[in-house]
Amino acid sequence: MPTTIPLTRTTHPKAKPRDEELSFGKFFTDHMFLMEATADQGWHNPRVVPYGPLSLDPSAAVLHYSQEIFEGLKAYRSPRDTILLFRPDKNAARLNRSAARMCMPAVDEPLFLDAIKTVVATDRDWVPRAAGTSLYIRPAMIATEPFLGVRPAQAYSFFIILCPVGAYYAEGFNPVKILVEDHYVRAVKGGTGDAKTGGNYASSLASAEEAHHKGYSQVLWLDGVERKYIEEVGSMNIAFVIDNEFVTPALSGSILDGVTRDTTKQLVKDWGIRVVERPITIDEVLTASRNGRLQEAFGMGTAAVISPVSELAYKDAKLAIGNGEVGPLAQRLFDEISNIQRGLKPDPHGWVVEIR
Ligand SMILES: *Cc1c(COP(=O)(O)O)cnc(C)c1O
Repeated sequence: MPTTIPLTRTTHPKAKPRDEELSFGKFFTDHMFLMEATADQGWHNPRVVPYGPLSLDPSAAVLHYSQEIFEGLKAYRSPRDTILLFRPDKNAARLNRSAARMCMPAVDEPLFLDAIKTVVATDRDWVPRAAGTSLYIRPAMIATEPFLGVRPAQAYSFFIILCPVGAYYAEGFNPVKILVEDHYVRAVKGGTGDAKTGGNYASSLASAEEAHHKGYSQVLWLDGVERKYIEEVGSMNIAFVIDNEFVTPALSGSILDGVTRDTTKQLVKDWGIRVVERPITIDEVLTASRNGRLQEAFGMGTAAVISPVSELAYKDAKLAIGNGEVGPLAQRLFDEISNIQRGLKPDPHGWVVEIR
């Protein structure tokens, strides 16, 4: 465990939830990482402290103009009882791409990794043990300067909080029904769709609510200009298997560059399947489905790893994909990625980082 980051231990450790009680984002561990940046000092005072409320001025810029970014990754407990991270360098790099887009200060990548390692090591007893469970890691940066003018703030906080999360598929793979959104849009090229920033989520809530009322768990976003090209699903990237090829929307500037998407592409390539990144229209997917050429569709993201899609609803059409069953590639990817993440299988690409 790195020793450069000072630690203040809680005097009131919380009762840990039982593995059966876990869900997503509900329980938080005993400690958090915290540091601040100002224009003249840069990032300073990195520390691990008891988990608790932040003190913010009501005029703090983040509360008014949403200058905020975040990341999401997980720590897993291996069968040898070590704690493993999966490709945290990708999260560090993406945080800084998001920071640049939102006019926020970069975080030194080694410090980002040390901060995660230190806080996770401090709360290592919180990494759950049951199959499929993990410790979700949420780094976030907010603009804290008390100032209502519209310009990049001159003061920031960066923090990392941790929550034990349950198995995403506690009762086996649960394919999702997805509504193709043809009214609202999530992002446009030149906007902030490729930054991991809270505002993208705030603007997606109305669409998600309407989809839930219609019985769909997620929406599939189309491009913001022509409402024709497929972008991504809620908090996941999307891929299709068409004519035995793995097809996923190219990074266009309006979708997020997912770590799981990148991991999936590499594995699929390793397995000798052709990977195609290009613009894909919703009409093409409908046609491929009608002609029997659409074999699978699945989301890719840290929370679920792989999320098979059993139905796509678009305007009046309802497409059943793979007879509602989980496709072989989705299953193989889910198993392979989960097993590498948990130290149950060799890691030929050097993706796993052990926390000591
Ligand atoms: C975080 C996120 C993803 C998935 O990225 P991973 O790194 O694979 O977890 C996809 N889309 C959006 C909008 C996201 O915020």
